[in-house]
Amino acid sequence: MGLEHTFSYWERTAFIDHADVIIIGSGIVGLSAALHLKRQQPSLKVTVLERGFLPSGASTKNAGFACFGTVSEQIEYLKRSSEAEVLRLVDYKWRGLQRLRANLGDRHIDFQQNGGYELFMENEADKAEEALDHLTYFNNLLAQAIGSADIYAVADAKIADFGFKAVNRMILNPYEGQLHTGKMMRTLLNRVYEQDILVLNGCTVSQIENESGHIRLNTSHGDFKSSKVILATNAFAAQLYPELDVIPGRGQVLVTKPIAGLKLKGTYHFNEGYYYFRNIDNRVLFGGGRNMDFKKEETWDFGHTEKVKEQLTTYLNEMILPGQQVQVDYWWSGIMGFGGDITPIVKEVQPGIFCAVRCNGMGVAMGSLVGDEVAELVLK
Ligand SMILES: Cc1cc2nc3c(=O)[nH]c(=O)nc-3n(C[C@H](O)[C@H](O)[C@H](O)COP(=O)(O)OP(=O)(O)OC[C@H]3O[C@@H](n4cnc5c(N)ncnc54)[C@H](O)[C@@H]3O)c2cc1C
Repeated sequence: MGLEHTFSYWERTAFIDHADVIIIGSGIVGLSAALHLKRQQPSLKVTVLERGFLPSGASTKNAGFACFGTVSEQIEYLKRSSEAEVLRLVDYKWRGLQRLRANLGDRHIDFQQNGGYELFMENEADKAEEALDHLTYFNNLLAQAIGSADIYAVADAKIADFGFKAVNRMILNPYEGQLHTGKMMRTLLNRVYEQDILVLNGCTVSQIENESGHIRLNTSHGDFKSSKVILATNAFAAQLYPELDVIPGRGQVLVTKPIAGLKLKGTYHFNEGYYYFRNIDNRVLFGGGRNMDFKKEETWDFGHTEKVKEQLTTYLNEMILPGQQVQVDYWWSGIMGFGGDITPIVKEVQPGIFCAVRCNGMGVAMGSLVGDEVAELVLK
């Protein structure tokens, strides 16, 4: 049924009729793009269409690490790309985090710079040695982005303080922080509302057609028209544009019940970043394990597998909080967008239709800049 049959005159003229820019997806990238557009050109009519009741991809489901990469991750990138590219990516994430904090304000998002740690298990002596051998090299390289060369340092002495078991070596990065993901997204939404940007939830876009003079979007609530469109659907980008190289990757996460006397404070990675945990409100948030079965986790469906749940629970009880009988409060999952290339795709896919997708699991860090970048393309 066409819109003319379903909406009142008031609804059509105030909510539905022609927008200058329609953004599909209200994650951190879509909302950041909306904000940038309106700040640059306040007269623009900007509408965001989101299929979920809340943003329903990664932005409200993540771990809230404000980080730019462990030594092992940098080594992996270096094997796949050039030194200049590794530096460029760290610089991008670092500037992205500064942009996020400037946009939203640290106190609104509970930003805390408690440091980030990389852990190596007893059976990972070779990996630990390789990482430790690279400390000075990466400190010198990344100083160009961070502004200081005291980035990564050995922190073995703290292993006992945190009470970890079977952890042999540890590297600290004091420049890494953590934030409250839910507060980040609510503050971002508030900033967007302040700019008179319309966000419509429960609206799935099923097709985008370039017609003469405008772009038509078929949605679950009828057709919308716009001059320009931004696709900010990240992991789900290929549902509308199959030619985009974005592969979904599900991340499974747990949060424990509150733990009296919790010692750990900061963000922690192990197993090349495939596992990550942090403190939040006297609880531990712990996620990962996608590498146990990449194929199975290459899905657009939220949910869990027993295999990953079991592995996370074992690590939690035997390594992170050994002998403490902690209880898992609940689980959730989120879907990330990955690809062969570790940089996001920001480009015009068809005349007037732009995309900003594939944050490769690093969108808290880079999402604000990715949004700015696509908005700049649209404004050109
Ligand atoms: C478990 C987990 C942990 C993570 N931890 C971290 C971390 O600690 N630090 C970090 O930097 N990054 C982390 N990330 C990654 C980060 O959350 C993402 O990179 C970032 O949120 C991506 O933002 P986005 O706006 O591109 O995509 P999304 O947040 O996925 O937004 C896309 C939106 O598009 C909507 N959508 C999709 N298709 C349609 C359609 N057809 N019509 C309408 N709407 C549609 C979806 O519902 C969704 O809300 C993590 C991700 C996960 C899943």
